[in-house]
Amino acid sequence: MYAFIQGASQALQIERRDIDGVLFPKQMGKNTWMQTIVLFDDVPGGAGHVRQIREEIIKVIREALRIVNCVDCAPDSSCYHCLRDYSNQYDHHILRRGPVAIFLEGLLASLMSTGDPSQPNPVVALNYPRWLMQTVGRTHHKVIMIADGIGLTPPSGEFFHWLDILNHLLKRDVQVTLRLTKPFIVTLEKPETLSIGRYLQLMIENGLQLDILNNTPEWRLVIDPDSVDSARAIKPTNDAFYLDNLCGEGGLETITSTSWVSQISQDLEQIQGKKIKRIFLLQGMFR
Ligand SMILES: [Zn+2]
Repeated sequence: MYAFIQGASQALQIERRDIDGVLFPKQMGKNTWMQTIVLFDDVPGGAGHVRQIREEIIKVIREALRIVNCVDCAPDSSCYHCLRDYSNQYDHHILRRGPVAIFLEGLLASLMSTGDPSQPNPVVALNYPRWLMQTVGRTHHKVIMIADGIGLTPPSGEFFHWLDILNHLLKRDVQVTLRLTKPFIVTLEKPETLSIGRYLQLMIENGLQLDILNNTPEWRLVIDPDSVDSARAIKPTNDAFYLDNLCGEGGLETITSTSWVSQISQDLEQIQGKKIKRIFLLQGMFR
């Protein structure tokens, strides 16, 4: 609710104190309740702000999403740059921006989507590389990534690079498969490749499945293919998928219907690849 109010206030240039809201439980069935957000003009006689918010709801949600994608606090908290302000100080300890971002993203996607779960929908995010990394970072069971290459620069606003994220997943017992569309060559001319090679070797020891493909499929990423709650497949709009700070920069499309995601996952798993067990850093090549 606070994200909505802040979003409306900033997107439509309404004074923060001129609008307010309450949470209102609404009975949907015998034992089901839904939490409703009720916004109201806090100006005597009303000023039409709420109507304006309704008419420009997409703009308001986008702004709310920008606010909760805060770089100054952790996702399980909030700060004065995002959800907190003077008027909600009694709730500061319970305001967590992370779940709000996930909710708003879903809401925006449903408002903008084709409504057909078998069709890919454009991802709505202000910073695609960061969205992509955070989405992969939330994987519960299994992730398959098909990348054109790897870099070690984190996306803006993030502290970790892609291999850190994948290694972190391995430590949480997530099944991680990384498939490269081009052989990765360790060369002394590019010192970064030596670091990447060492890191990949460590990750293979931690359970990473790594291989090289001969062709490049359309879908590049599958997350939790058999999960009802978190299944997702992602493809880049412009085809390139290099795991670096700009991965996803050109836009992303996603599908979240479990049956489609598991079909995509099966298709990806059927593509033959050359398995990498060990990285030979001295010869400078994968064997
Ligand atoms: Zn914050």
